[in-house]
Amino acid sequence: MFSLPKLPYSFDALEPFIDAKTMEIHYTKHHQAYLDKLYTAVSQVPDLENSSIEELLTSLPAVPEEVRTAVRNNGGGYYNHTLFWNMMAPPSSTKMSGTLKSFFDTSFGGVEDFKKKFAAEAVGRFGSGWVWLIKDHQGKYSIQSTPNQDSPLMENPDITLLLGLDVWEHAYYLKYQNRRPEYIEAWWNIVNWHEVERKITNILP
Ligand code: MN
Repeated sequence: MFSLPKLPYSFDALEPFIDAKTMEIHYTKHHQAYLDKLYTAVSQVPDLENSSIEELLTSLPAVPEEVRTAVRNNGGGYYNHTLFWNMMAPPSSTKMSGTLKSFFDTSFGGVEDFKKKFAAEAVGRFGSGWVWLIKDHQGKYSIQSTPNQDSPLMENPDITLLLGLDVWEHAYYLKYQNRRPEYIEAWWNIVNWHEVERKITNILP
């Protein structure tokens, strides 16, 4: 029904910005646990077993109450991490193109302004959560953060998620301890800009 997606690089591929041990635990323990618990929850409701993960997350009110919280937290965790691995790439392989720079100039007043705004949301998210670059159905781009493992899709199924950053402590604590801003600053070096550009280009009119 659901499965752990293959990691598109090795555990040490994002060094030195994200250490191999963090990647290994994040993928084999945390992501796996969200998947296992989602499976357990969905297995209790035969009607849900044929739903895609997107269908589950965008129609939570229709999910039976006894498993709704479990589907929300673990389905969100499963889905967010599936996106997250592909939003990163080895530092040597990722460079922002002129096309993408122009996009940030137009939509956010420049790459640096975009990064500053995104990082401020990431630092400001109290407790655990995520920060996202989003395109809504009217073609407007915005930065938004969500608590816990919530996805912006839960509120609004019509948006496209272009980029996301995990700011749970499990994503950075081994290397950065309480220094979330340092983790965010380092993370820019391993953003998969090609993937961001591909998504933006695909949805441009
Ligand atoms: Mn995580």
